Formats: sequence, C-alpha cells, structure tokens
Amino acid sequence: MAAAGRVAAIDFGGLVRAVPAAVVRPASADDVASAIRAAALTPHLTVAARGNGHSVAGQAMAEGGLVLDMRSFAATSSSSRRGGAQTMMQLVQCPSEGGGGHCCFADVPGGALWEEVLHWGVDNHGLAPASWTDYLRLTVGGTLSNGGVSGQSFRYGPQVSNVAELEVVTGDGECRVCSPASHPDLFFAVLGGLGQFGVITRARIPLHKAPKAVRWTRVVYASFADYTADAEWLVTRPPEAAFDYVEGFAFVHSDDPVNGWPSVPIPGGARFDASLLPAGAGPVLYCLEVALYQYAHRPDPDDDEDQGVASVSRRMMAPLKYVRGLEFAADVGYVDFLSRVNRVEEEARRNGSWDAPHPWLNLFVSARDIADFERAVIKGMLADGIDGPMLVYPMLKSKWDPNTSVALPEKGEIFYLVALLRFCRPGGPAVDELVAQNGAILSACRANGYDYKAYFPSYRGGEAEWSRHFGAARWRRFVDRKARYDPLAILAPGQKIFPRAP
Ligand code: FAD
Repeated sequence: MAAAGRVAAIDFGGLVRAVPAAVVRPASADDVASAIRAAALTPHLTVAARGNGHSVAGQAMAEGGLVLDMRSFAATSSSSRRGGAQTMMQLVQCPSEGGGGHCCFADVPGGALWEEVLHWGVDNHGLAPASWTDYLRLTVGGTLSNGGVSGQSFRYGPQVSNVAELEVVTGDGECRVCSPASHPDLFFAVLGGLGQFGVITRARIPLHKAPKAVRWTRVVYASFADYTADAEWLVTRPPEAAFDYVEGFAFVHSDDPVNGWPSVPIPGGARFDASLLPAGAGPVLYCLEVALYQYAHRPDPDDDEDQGVASVSRRMMAPLKYVRGLEFAADVGYVDFLSRVNRVEEEARRNGSWDAPHPWLNLFVSARDIADFERAVIKGMLADGIDGPMLVYPMLKSKWDPNTSVALPEKGEIFYLVALLRFCRPGGPAVDELVAQNGAILSACRANGYDYKAYFPSYRGGEAEWSRHFGAARWRRFVDRKARYDPLAILAPGQKIFPRAP
C-alpha cells in the first residue's frame, strides 16, 4: 500500500483500521466535486474528507472508498515558505453596521489548521478568531463538523457558533455557498454534521482584535461542590466582569508526576505545596483554570496599584473558594497561550505516547447530573487518574444554535464538557481494559439516567443508537437532511451512521 493509503487507514485513536481504495489530493472544490461524482457513478464507493486525522474511532476513514486529503487542499498552490494554507487565506472586510458587529472575516480553506489561521491572522493583521480548541493542529473543516470547544466557548460560543459562511460540496457533487441568510438549512446541517452532508472547502470566520498577552491562572479545590459553584458563577458573569477563558480538570491527590499535583503548576510557575490542602481532602482534586486577555500594555503583576490585567484578574478571583496558597499564575503571549498544548505534544512524542492508541471518551453532561457523575465516575471509577487530562468545565447552551446538527444535553442552560484524554504509557493498563472502562462509564450514565450526550460520538449499533443520541425529533431532521444533501450516503462512512445506497 502507498504511504498515503497507510496514513489514511489509521487515526490518532489508533483503535480502528480501515484501508481506503485510494487517497485523493484535491486542489480545489471542483476536484472534491469530481471525486464525489465519480463515487456516485459506482454502486459502492464512499468518500471521506480527512482533516488531520485526529479522530479517535475511524470517523475520517473510508474502507474500500476514497479518502480526500483535505490538508493537501490547504497546501496547494504554495511556493511560499509560510505554507500553502496561509497563502490561500484571505481577509474579507465588511462595513460594520452602526459601529457594532464584525467588520473583518478570514476566508480559510477547510483543510487549514487552526494553528495556521492563528499565525496568519496575528502576524499579518493583528486579528484572530474568538473561539478555539485547546489544541490547534486540528483542521477548520474537522472541528466545524463536530463543535470545536475550549475555555472560550462559555463566552464566545463554540467554533460552530463562530462561522459566517461556508462553501460546501454536497453528496450530490454540487458546490454551494451557504450562510444563515442563504441556504441556511445546509449551513446549519453541516455545522456539527459529522461530515454527513457535505465537504467544507472554505469557511468564513469572524475576526477580532488579537490580544497582546494573557494573564493565565490556575487554582485548586478539594471540594467538587465549591469547584462547580465557582466555575458556574464565573461562566454566568456579565461580559464586562467575565474572564475570556474558563476551563478546569480533575487530578489525583498524590505526587504522581502525570496524574497528580505536578500536573497543576503552569510552566515556570510555583511548586505545588500539598501541605496547604485541607486534612479531609479526598482522592481527587480539582484545578480551575482562567485567563484574562490584555490588549494594551503589559502590567506589572507585583504592583498593586497597577490596574492592568494581573490585578484585575486577582480581584475577579477574590470571591472564589479555592484553597488559598495553591494559586499559579503567569503572563504569557496570546499565541503562546493558545499554543500551550504543543508542549504536551512534544513531550508525548518524546516518550512515545503520542503514537500509541488513545481510547478517549468525550461527553457533555448536564449541570443537573454533574455532581452524581463525579461521585459515580470520576471518584468511583477514575480515582487513580487516566494518564492524561480529565477535563471538566462548564459551558452555556444558549451559545449554541439549536439549528446546527450538534446534540447537547436537554436539561438546563449549563452543561459540562467531560473529556477523558487517556494516554497509554508503557506498563499501564491494556488498551482493551481502557476501552472496556469507557463502555462501563457510558453504561453507568445510561443506568443512572444522566442527561448527557457523547461528543465525537461513535456507535456501532446502527439506527437505534444514533436515534437515541440525537433524540427522536433531531434524528428525523438529521435523516431528512441526509436525504436532501447526500441521498446515496456517499459521505463520511467512518461515522457508521448510514449505509451506502447502491
Ligand atoms: P478528522 O479527524 O480528520 O475528521 C473528523 C470528521 O470530520 C470526520 O468525519 C471527517 O470526515 C470530517 N471532516 C474532516 N474535514 C472535513 C471537511 N473539510 N468537511 C467536512 N467534513 C470533514 N476538539 C475540541 O472540540 N476541543 C479541543 O480542545 C480538542 N482538543 C484536541 C486535542 C487533541 C490532541 C486531539 C487529537 C483532538 C482534539 N479535539 C478537540 C478533537 C478534534 O476536534 C477532532 O478530532 C476533530 O475531528 C478535528 O480533527 P481533524 O481536523 O483531524 O478531523
């Protein structure tokens, strides 16, 4: 098999393998359309857009079908050392209405990495999108097909709420431009649409003035009730009193270098002094992480008179109930802050865990059930850690447009992202055990009646499971949209939702 085929047969998860018939390197939306039309002429061929292959359950694969390498789309036409994706990005200026609203957008290829969008926007225009993922070596088309969340989501919405227009090649081989005003049904179907309705060849992303620096702070909680009360208070503050980023994670009450106290301090920050923890602290602790953007001068964090971002941040945190003394703060550049997971990648590549399997589980859990979930799952099943981050942080349902295809918990305004980002270390549990544990967690969620949804869902049980995932009404809409935009079910077969129609 050619090297491209080998790469397209695996993904970051490393759990599924599906060999394609061919890998296509499109240079334009027309090439994407030609590949889809060619597949439609056969009774069996399917087509999967592959972003950067960072799915964990084969979602971007096409067994015996065509894989579109969307990175090659972004890289075409480049002789520039800046990289092809950046040469294909364009600044679009629109007159702002009444002085409000966005006036600048970036037109970016679907196969561009968010990292490329960041560098292009900041370096050339001092502008940047508002909503990010934690890790930026993901493609625009890939995250828009899912959701795209990070600590900015509570305030600026997920990435699917930060798009003005899409160019999409649908499953009938037609290239269409859609937006909330033009072909809105297609626009919203594609956002969070798991690649089912079309291939995103271009996205128009609103841009804002890029901050200069970021005050980045972590604080520690022994009580989950205090942690969630503070996190929910922070994400419901009015914009003028809110942080720009709120995240958090669970960690183990031990000196384990990966799962325990050492995972908390910010690079270059202070040492974790465990003697400050209350005597009755349980086996799992929580770290709340916030960031405040700074647009002008860089403040002196040691000067109390300075009304800069460090002192504003300290004041905003004063009412919180974290363990005093366990605060870690740093002033970092905006691009450095957004690139913080690159350091994790470098280390994981060094120790081999980047290329090992990643049996990840991502859930959205309603705030109504998060305390029960914590008791039953985090303390009950994961108290020794998972050799990787256990993210647990809130976001707001009202920041998500219900017309998109994304499935969210039903009850209430606040829900939590729970991301179990397992890394397999030599000598750790076998991958099968970790996959089985993920299954046990999902069973516990169902048995306990939690209001939750899988983020990056992966089901093998066909229609019944997908219909339960979406709920009856949204599933009907999903099926109708599939019949409208991809009637032969050619696209994204790795999601295992619809069989190819002959
Ligand atoms: P792929 O995995 O290649 O594709 C994902 C799906 O989208 C497939 O079904 C594919 O067919 C479809 N697709 C890809 N490109 C297109 C396109 N142009 N048009 C239509 N469909 C397309 N997610 C978050 O929300 N927040 C995070 O903070 C976050 N951090 C991550 C950190 C790491 C280290 C990793 C590995 C993943 C992380 N993710 C995060 C998950 C990530 O958003 C998903 O993996 C997502 O699928 C994007 O990855 P990708 O661009 O490689 O897409």
